[in-house]
Amino acid sequence: MIYPIVAYGDPVLRRVARDIEQGEIDLQQLAADMYETMHHAEGVGLAAPQIGMDIRVFVVDGSTTNDEELKTFKQVFINPQVIQQEGKLWPYEEGCLSIPNIREEVKRQESIRLSYFDQDWVAYEVEFSGMKARVIQHEYDHIEGKLFIDYLSPLRRRLLKGKLADITRGQAKTDYRMKFPAKK
Ligand code: ZN
Repeated sequence: MIYPIVAYGDPVLRRVARDIEQGEIDLQQLAADMYETMHHAEGVGLAAPQIGMDIRVFVVDGSTTNDEELKTFKQVFINPQVIQQEGKLWPYEEGCLSIPNIREEVKRQESIRLSYFDQDWVAYEVEFSGMKARVIQHEYDHIEGKLFIDYLSPLRRRLLKGKLADITRGQAKTDYRMKFPAKK
């Protein structure tokens, strides 16, 4: 099932999401729905708050990209917790399915170690680096109620204010269905 993607301005994107309990949710179904929704929107990552659920779940699939590191990176992350982030900050232009048609340079750390469960409730602790670390950090931010535009300078954010307000009002062109907070 393809969910509409929640647009910037919806409070669910600003909430700290909660852990889920084993058996609480059909994770195979949720993972399948999140992958389907993400693929339909041509995204590389999708977090549960972006489909209106304030739970600590996100999915990543880089198989459609040309990026060597991301091509083979497909994973469901349940109840992830950051254990460590380290390395030099490096810039890269990011976008977000909830904030369509805006791309901005964001600086993130080189590597991240996190613990999580997969959709079969197998526990992992893994360190990721480079582009994988970047995608994970972006998605992890979503379950902490953070967005990539939070990293921009006050000036950059001021310049984007109008565009962001338009998105919240439903004035955004996308090839995927969205749910706009200020549009009934
Ligand atoms: Zn995003």
